[in-house]
Amino acid sequence: MSIKNNIQNIKSQLPKHVILVAVSKTKPVSDLMEAYDAGQRVFGENKIQEMAEKWETMPKDIQWHMIGHVQTNKVKYMAEFVDLIHGVDSLKLLKEINKQAQKHNRVINCLLQIKIAKEDSKFGLSITDAKSIIESQLFSEFKNIKVVGLMGMATFTDDMIQVKEEFEFLKSNYNDFKKLKTKNFELSILSMGMSGDYQLAIDCGSNMVRIGSSIFGARNYN
Ligand SMILES: *Cc1c(COP(=O)(O)O)cnc(C)c1O
Repeated sequence: MSIKNNIQNIKSQLPKHVILVAVSKTKPVSDLMEAYDAGQRVFGENKIQEMAEKWETMPKDIQWHMIGHVQTNKVKYMAEFVDLIHGVDSLKLLKEINKQAQKHNRVINCLLQIKIAKEDSKFGLSITDAKSIIESQLFSEFKNIKVVGLMGMATFTDDMIQVKEEFEFLKSNYNDFKKLKTKNFELSILSMGMSGDYQLAIDCGSNMVRIGSSIFGARNYN
């Protein structure tokens, strides 16, 4: 199957309200262009430098999403162009994104990454920590960021009952957080679901799926 066919197949299965992020990390620009030519405009990367290089060479109507863990000292390399940062997991990081966004006269959209998996290796905030960030004085002063949603990654397991519970947990908290609307906190995006679990994620209320290997094939990290 070609990248074009994969995109078309997946798109035809997605409900209209679900946004497809094509996760193109490690893949060459030629692969991304194949997806672009099939109409794809939203791409997700997990390394800031790699994303910046692709942004420089590719058409300017692409929306670039940072889906990986973000180091504070690297925010400056994407502040000019990034469309949405999925993996925001601290007040310190929000502060830096706000500062760098201000330099470019932009408001950068962010998702708070919530830890929903049972494994230790996954990044993310607890619901309690997310709440205290949102309610902090500092957060309310940030004019150049906007938190527009939540992101979560389920446990890497074949146990779909567990995965479903994790997605449902995030959806229910998303519904609660949606009620807290402020100038820089207004939720409309629930980013959950990858190649192996996106159908389930959508059933549980996701409206943004991050799909890599089902579009571009398996990744080779060598
Ligand atoms: C790599 C990655 C994906 C895509 O994974 P696939 O299983 O290839 O679809 C989605 N989300 C995040 C955060 C990722 O790092």
